Amino acid sequence: MKQIAIVEDEPLMREELETMLKKAGYETMEVCDFETAAEHLLQLSPDLILLDLNLPGASGFQICRSVKQKSSIPVFVLTSREQMKDELLALELGADEYLTKPCRKERLLARISNILKRYEGRSNLLEGDGFLLDRQTYTLYINGRSVILPKNQGKILETLLIQDGRMATKQELCRALWGTEEYIDENALQVNLTRLKKTIAGLDMNLQIETVRGVGHRLVRKGKEAGHEG
Ligand code: CA
Repeated sequence: MKQIAIVEDEPLMREELETMLKKAGYETMEVCDFETAAEHLLQLSPDLILLDLNLPGASGFQICRSVKQKSSIPVFVLTSREQMKDELLALELGADEYLTKPCRKERLLARISNILKRYEGRSNLLEGDGFLLDRQTYTLYINGRSVILPKNQGKILETLLIQDGRMATKQELCRALWGTEEYIDENALQVNLTRLKKTIAGLDMNLQIETVRGVGHRLVRKGKEAGHEG
């Protein structure tokens, strides 16, 4: 079942969309913390994002930009803003479709189905600095070659990429690796991090993993490390 994430602050509108999409055979998920919406959406990795523009604490434009910089998830902007410049800006930031509310249900569903068809079969690629990571197979495309990463290394790299330069805590990494943060196996996490660091060094990538003791790990450009090696 195709999954559609709804980013909408008005509860009534959200409910209405949810009901309509479920009836049409889609699975829906809601994102209601708008400040962290982009990261949350990248983690959820839905088949399509329905995005409102006027949101408290964040702008739909910013969310659209962040999601599109990091993924190939289609973004459908659904907004009450009617200005041409809003539509143009949204499309410029990579939005795939733009409709103003209120709109006819049939039109919305037809356009959603069109986009999903267009994206059918496209792999789910995350973009990094000079490389791409396929989130389904953990294949890394870099310098004209492709390398399949061991699953655990792929999951760590995926998590760090989604953070977009911010620190990932060991809890976040453990959740990505083992689906839980109830018990944290520091040693196993370290082993996997060390292996990924080796892989990154061996592939001559333009980045490295910076570790700050007691805080977490993040990706930085080569040579930009702050010097807290852990
Ligand atoms: Ca709104």
